[in-house]
Amino acid sequence: MKKLSKTEAEEEIKEFFEKIQTKTPKKIKKIKRLAMRHNIKLGELRKKFCKKCFSPRLKIIGVKNKIKRIKCEYCKNVARWKMK
Ligand SMILES: [Zn+2]
Repeated sequence: MKKLSKTEAEEEIKEFFEKIQTKTPKKIKKIKRLAMRHNIKLGELRKKFCKKCFSPRLKIIGVKNKIKRIKCEYCKNVARWKMK
């Protein structure tokens, strides 16, 4: 990957996440590294992929007490996100 400025990296990350469903875990891992290298916070974008296997194939399995439970269809890891 070529050297990017922080703004270019941010742009690349934004575009990447718009099409995250078409991305492979390998590419997601790479974009996460890019963000880290440029000190870019992913924030809400972190919820778009599994933190264990980096798969974008997540399924909402339930919402209870304002906690959203999301299951990764690939590794079956369940993540919980507080809703605002
Ligand atoms: Zn997973």
